[in-house]
This record gives sequence, C-alpha cells and structure tokens, in this order.
Amino acid sequence: MNEEKYLFVVSGPSGTGKDTVVHALLEQHPELHKTVSATTRARRGEEQDGRDYHFLTVPQFEAQIAQEGLVEHACYCGNYYGTLKSEVEPFIQAGTPVILVIEVQGAGNIKRLYPGATTVFLMPPTMEELERRLRSRGTDSEQAIQNRLRRAEAEIALSADYDEHVVNDVVETCAAEIYDIIREKLAAPQ
Ligand code: 5GP
Repeated sequence: MNEEKYLFVVSGPSGTGKDTVVHALLEQHPELHKTVSATTRARRGEEQDGRDYHFLTVPQFEAQIAQEGLVEHACYCGNYYGTLKSEVEPFIQAGTPVILVIEVQGAGNIKRLYPGATTVFLMPPTMEELERRLRSRGTDSEQAIQNRLRRAEAEIALSADYDEHVVNDVVETCAAEIYDIIREKLAAPQ
C-alpha cells in the first residue's frame, strides 16, 4: 500500500485562513485527521495545549529534534514549529487521510521526505485582504504583522513548487475544493 498518498499538506502565508478552511473541511469530513503541531511560541487567546498545539519550551523542542520525534520542523518568525512523527505515521499506516497545516519550509521538507504526499498552496485573494485578515485577528503586534507580511511575499514566490493551488475567497468553497483534491488522490490507482 502506498501510505504516502494519505498525506496532504495545506500551506500558504499566515493569515490566508488555512486553519479556518481546514476547520470547515473537518466539520464536513471528520474522518480526516489533522495533526496537532508542536511549537515554542506563546499561547494566543483561547488556545489549548494538546488541542491547538503542543506548547513546548525550547529545550523540550530541541530534545524532540534530537530524538527524531519530528517528521519536519521549521523556525518561523523566531519560534520553532514542527510535526510529531506520532501524529503522522500511525494514521497513514492505517489508511486515514492526514492533513498538515504548516508553513512553506515545512511543506517542502514533507514533500522531500514523502514524495507521494500532496501539497496544496492556499492563496489569499489579494495582499490587501491578507493584511486585513492579519490585522483583524487582533492578536499580533505591529512588528509581528510586518514580519508575517514580508514572509508572505517570500512564501508566495515559492508556491510554484506545489501540486495544487486554491484561492481562499469563500471558506466553504475553498474547503470543498480541497476535499475534491483529497477524494481524487485517494481514488487514483496506486
Ligand atoms: P501561528 O503562529 O500563526 O499559529 O503559525 C505560524 C505558521 O506556522 C503558520 O503558517 C502555521 O501554518 C505554521 N505551522 C504550524 N504548525 C507547523 C508545523 O508543525 N510545522 C511547520 N513547518 N509549520 C507549522
């Protein structure tokens, strides 16, 4: 069995709405498994440890790297983010589609490690809309917003390497487009 075909990466600039779209996708299709990442960034608002992220200290995260407990990790705007092996391998081995919602460096690492994975790049409708969405979260400092906007431009420049591209204009439409990509991949011959 080709386990890698069960692996789907949704990536794109911070503020594009990756989490909102994948949340809508999971509401419609609870059989999909979304990985809970590890991070060293501070908790925001209502976020819960173990549900939104596994919040680790820098030494704890570095211990995970040393023990090869992560399938990929990246440093994003000064914090570590990474996908735990335990969130991926048992699921793809069981034939459960797994969705990783990660930034572009991690997406590239996943594609190198699992060439059979499908990478989906989520585009904001416009850069102005991306900035509006980042500001409307009301959780990041001006400096963090400026960092994320600069990073977004660099990320969009790398989007040609992705298997699929979807514009997040209307959340439900975007989620349905991603589900079509998953369905087609799973139905394709090995
Ligand atoms: P945020 O701080 O807004 O929650 O996340 C910042 C960025 O890190 C987002 O683009 C998010 O998708 C990405 N991210 C979240 N988890 C992971 C992960 O496990 N690995 C990588 N490479 N990026 C992640």
